[in-house]
Amino acid sequence: MTSPYRQFHPRLSTTLSLVVCALLLFMGVISWLVVPLLSGIDQSSGQTRERYMPSILDHQRNALKVEKISGYLNTVYWAQDPDAERRARLQAQVLIQSFMLEETFALAGRTAETLDIIKRLMELRERQRRQMEQVALLLGQSGSPALAGLGRRLLLTPLREVRWPPFAPLLAAIPAPDDEDRIRLQRLARHLQQVSILNSQADQLLERGQAQLQQVAGALTTDAALRVQQLTEDIGRDAGAVARYTYLLIGVVTLISVLLFGALHRFVLRPLQASLQGLRAIEQDHNDHVRLPPVLFSELNTICRAVEDYSAMTRELRQLNEELQQLSHQDGLTGLANRRHFDQVLHDAFNRARRHHARLAVVMLDIDHFKRLNDTFGHLNGDECLRALARVLKDYALRSGEVAARYGGEEFALVLTDVNRQQLVRLCEQIRQQVAALQLVDAAGQAMPFTVSLGAALLPAAALEQECALLQLADQALYRAKQEGRNRVVLSEGETRPAEALA
Ligand code: GH3
Ligand code: MG
Ligand code: MG
Repeated sequence: MTSPYRQFHPRLSTTLSLVVCALLLFMGVISWLVVPLLSGIDQSSGQTRERYMPSILDHQRNALKVEKISGYLNTVYWAQDPDAERRARLQAQVLIQSFMLEETFALAGRTAETLDIIKRLMELRERQRRQMEQVALLLGQSGSPALAGLGRRLLLTPLREVRWPPFAPLLAAIPAPDDEDRIRLQRLARHLQQVSILNSQADQLLERGQAQLQQVAGALTTDAALRVQQLTEDIGRDAGAVARYTYLLIGVVTLISVLLFGALHRFVLRPLQASLQGLRAIEQDHNDHVRLPPVLFSELNTICRAVEDYSAMTRELRQLNEELQQLSHQDGLTGLANRRHFDQVLHDAFNRARRHHARLAVVMLDIDHFKRLNDTFGHLNGDECLRALARVLKDYALRSGEVAARYGGEEFALVLTDVNRQQLVRLCEQIRQQVAALQLVDAAGQAMPFTVSLGAALLPAAALEQECALLQLADQALYRAKQEGRNRVVLSEGETRPAEALA
């Protein structure tokens, strides 16, 4: 595999330090950019407030003043007392002049007209009072009780309510016995008409004044509302800028985080995970050689290569171990299983057979007069005979759980499973004949014939407590074979006891 990082292996620790430094630098730059920006936005919103708030407050104050001026206009209209009228006019004048002082000239101009109306109202009231004085004079000159009654009524009527239509029929109803009284009545009527006309003018003036002030108040309210709207828009603009920069910042930070996480996953976590999987595979006896993908960082690369080496080493060790185990189970001279392995196989087969109530057979085999053969042909030739016998035996006991072993010296043993009495005897006889038929010769070409004696034991394993008892029976059978003249097969008598079970 061609590694894309064959030449380039930066250190993970150095890279992490650099990344942390870069992040700190980035945060520094962000702070450097954002802090002045945010404080600028804060300042700008403060300035906006400072710019608009005084004028909004001014508008409110002025609207209040206009309301007060309207109150004074009403006072002048409604008041009975000239002093109260004067006070109201003076207060209105002070307020209107304050507009001049505050340089709100437009307002001063418009409200000056109201002051003018107030003055004219006062003039009208003054003229009415003079008319009423004439009325009082005329009433005082007359001795007529009807006129005295009219006079009392007039006294109770406020000046602004002295109107011609209600008084006209009253005057018409007053008797005028002589010319003097008639003239007096005519003059009285003229004065009252005059007062009524002046009242109508006062009404009109009040109406005009109020309409004017309402207009001014309306304009002020609209102005204030506009200012508030501008203020809101300006502050909203600042807030929008803050939101935009915040989104931008969040976006950049998220992007960097995603990129960093991706890089961390790609260049750090994935190789570590692969190494861990490799180690697990080695632990779980996987015989495949663990191969890990190329890695960028030198530390991780070292780990991955170490895992690969460890895998290769473990594989070699396992193979070696298997070979050693095989060798530890084998007899060096004949290649058959050795005594230790035979004991182990017999033990396992015995337990298995007991569990499954199955048959189990053991065959013990010994070369007849081997000492003599050794003496005659020498040990090396004796060894050759042992090997030849092993070659015969290795073709037997081939099923799983079976074994053919060199038990010791010139003694051999077989474990056979699932065979009945006839099969066992036939098998032993076959071995015996095969050995007897061997045609071995020594270096000088002299034939080295030899025979074997076999003792076999066959039992259902459940009938015995331990496998050594079975072995002992086979050995006893072998002893009998030797005693009965060698080169023969003897089946243990022990098998006759449960023979019924074997049928
Ligand atoms: P029997 O028929 O009663 O078994 O007579 P035997 O001579 O075979 O019996 P004995 O036990 O007296 O002799 C066994 C001989 O086997 C003795 C020993 O020299 C020989 N022997 C044991 N192991 C080996 C071996 O590895 N190689 C050779 N060549 N001979 C061995
Ligand atoms: Mg022997
Ligand atoms: Mg022998």
